[in-house]
Amino acid sequence: MDIRERILASELPTPCYVIDEQKLIENGRILKGVQDRTGCRILLAQKAFSNYDLYPAIAPFLAGTEASGLFEARLGAEKMPEGECHVFCAAYRESEFTELLKYADHIVFNSPSQLKRFGERARAAGKSVGLRINPERSTQDGHGIYDPCSAGSRLGTTLSQWEEHMTEELITLLDGLHFHTLCEQDSDALEVTLDAVEERFGQYLHRMKWLNMGGGHHITRKDYDIPRLERLITRMQDTYGVQVYLEPGEAVALDAGYLMTEVLDTLKNGDTDIAILDMSAACHTPDVIEMPYRPPLYRSGEAGEKQYTWRLGGPTCLAGDIVGDYSFDERLSDGDRLLFGDMAIYSTCKNNTFNGMPLPDIWQACADGSFKLLARFGYEDFRYRLGS
Ligand SMILES: *Cc1c(COP(=O)(O)O)cnc(C)c1O
Repeated sequence: MDIRERILASELPTPCYVIDEQKLIENGRILKGVQDRTGCRILLAQKAFSNYDLYPAIAPFLAGTEASGLFEARLGAEKMPEGECHVFCAAYRESEFTELLKYADHIVFNSPSQLKRFGERARAAGKSVGLRINPERSTQDGHGIYDPCSAGSRLGTTLSQWEEHMTEELITLLDGLHFHTLCEQDSDALEVTLDAVEERFGQYLHRMKWLNMGGGHHITRKDYDIPRLERLITRMQDTYGVQVYLEPGEAVALDAGYLMTEVLDTLKNGDTDIAILDMSAACHTPDVIEMPYRPPLYRSGEAGEKQYTWRLGGPTCLAGDIVGDYSFDERLSDGDRLLFGDMAIYSTCKNNTFNGMPLPDIWQACADGSFKLLARFGYEDFRYRLGS
């Protein structure tokens, strides 16, 4: 049975996230293939997906984890201990750095000044040291907040910053370079980026042991051009003698999660049919509002495509707490269950309890067909973040 039918037919209480173990494994096989054919190493970027109960299912296909700071580094080290632990942070703080050294294998700095401040200590602790560069070649339009190459970006060292601050002593501290410039993109954008990386930093790459090409590679998407990705990896490894790393988040857990919700009420404003759901866009799928984007909804169409169009919104007080307009073959009514897709990434790790909204359960749809409860939340999870 289709996983979506299985979830809808289940008795799981709503709202709930369901993570599809089988799909994670399928994504993992694709990523493993790229590594086997090229010798590159692929890490899970935990900021997109960090439901660690599933780490044992994906660990066989990955070389380790990537972290955005101390807590994610610790999670990666504890929950995928057999893998490498890489960390990049825009700025490390003194009070955390010693502990970070316990978990991280690779430490990537954002600026020459951070490298100068912490690089020696990382090196002395036996860590592999890297610097994030900014190739200053935008390849995305639309999502400005996801473009680290936009004008005035704080992410990564530009060539002019490098030339001004990177002394020979600092360069010799480096084992590798890192860039992260893509978001949900194909390997054509990577190719454009690599041309810019080589043009600006090629002479330094010859002195490095590794090159980390960040995330944003939509490798597990159906139409992604994997052969071109592999050619690019091989080109960089052959030209510079570096070990290539990729650290996708989305691609690891793409289409591997759902959010099931129930219609609590239906109403009408003018010509607009509205359904109030027991999930909130603002709280449970924040990227819907922040990115913004329209998540897929099983058995629905675009507004106006099927006979009945409904505006779907949450129970909070926020006027903009709207998932979007979707159409259906039949009218919605109280108690109907709806299933949103694309909910494994940037959802469970990004939700919040604004408006006193309860957090949805997290369930695992196990590869053997059963469902397993991973996390359940209550009033305490709302209260404890607000005071003593
Ligand atoms: C966000 C991020 C990633 C993962 O990006 P995806 O778009 O989820 O693949 C990888 N590396 C760094 C440094 C990031 O900030």
